[in-house]
Amino acid sequence: MVTRSQTKGIQTVFGPVPSRRLGQSLGIDPIPLKTCNWNCVYCQLGRTGHLVNERREWVPETLILEQVEAALDRHKPGEIDWVTFVGSGEPTLHSGLGRLIRSVKEMTSIPVAIITNGALLYRSEVRKELAAADAVLPSLDAGSEDLYRLINRPHTQLTFERQMEGLIAFRKMYGARLWLEIMLLEGVNDTEAALKDLAGAVSRIRPDAVHLDVPSRPPAESWVRPASEEGLMRAEAILGDAAQIVHPVEGSFDLGGYDNVIDAVVGIITRHPMRSDQLERSLARWTPGQVREALAQLEADGRAQVIERYGVRFWSTVGARYVERERGPAYGKKSLEAMQPEEPSNEDRSNR
Ligand code: SF4
Repeated sequence: MVTRSQTKGIQTVFGPVPSRRLGQSLGIDPIPLKTCNWNCVYCQLGRTGHLVNERREWVPETLILEQVEAALDRHKPGEIDWVTFVGSGEPTLHSGLGRLIRSVKEMTSIPVAIITNGALLYRSEVRKELAAADAVLPSLDAGSEDLYRLINRPHTQLTFERQMEGLIAFRKMYGARLWLEIMLLEGVNDTEAALKDLAGAVSRIRPDAVHLDVPSRPPAESWVRPASEEGLMRAEAILGDAAQIVHPVEGSFDLGGYDNVIDAVVGIITRHPMRSDQLERSLARWTPGQVREALAQLEADGRAQVIERYGVRFWSTVGARYVERERGPAYGKKSLEAMQPEEPSNEDRSNR
């Protein structure tokens, strides 16, 4: 059980931020940084430091709800399109998620969405909790066990068949919007064979839509490349009518909840690593000199880091672990083993 004093300074609500699929989205982040049951090679927040499959009240529900209420009060009707549970870890790992969804729905008529990896949907209590949401957006990046393990590197209790079992069972009971997200990686899951496997999996799930996405922020592993235009077109053709390409959006980040530039930068880069030009635009409330000073100070204090991917410099929280080792994608069993993360450090172990 986390006490209130341990949560001092924790900001669980952010935005609204422009979302590729949900317009202006007020984000609720109920999980500490990179507490997840997957360790995706494309994760924009680096490698998972805390790989767990245990549900807990990671952050007190009362604290989250107080912050949601305050954020909703600050905004006029029409400024927020969706309230979205999402964040720096997997939201379904929060044991109070069902109560949180229902409480938010009592506070506002704005629709509530859950962005999840879907890995816990094999549990009936999680399916029941998510059924209260207006839209659920789970991930499905692979149509086979091998690629699932290669891309998502799940907790040992999780398998591809469990992922499918959960998604299929949820679809049967859930009449609202179920939008699958596929993150397409060049040479990994954008090949004809991988896409045919994915199409087979999608046809068993029967979602309302399939969103095709590519990484646009720095991935955990440096060898990860977004699918090319050709890969995206191949995916659209093989996955059929329900599939649509979701383009990255540029838009304004609402940083109104922050009193100073340092907190504003930390609040955003903890969840969304950003290019320096995006940060500067979003922080226009402060002068360019103040922004530069804040970034320099955060870097000097060891609270922010610059990570370079695709020749672009992104600012990220220093807690995110990115790997520079270059290894190409691989498919065989031997190669799969080679792709597993290094042994965790003692520091990581102490977190488990
Ligand atoms: S992308 Fe999402 S599911 Fe994958 S490791 Fe990151 S937080 Fe977890």
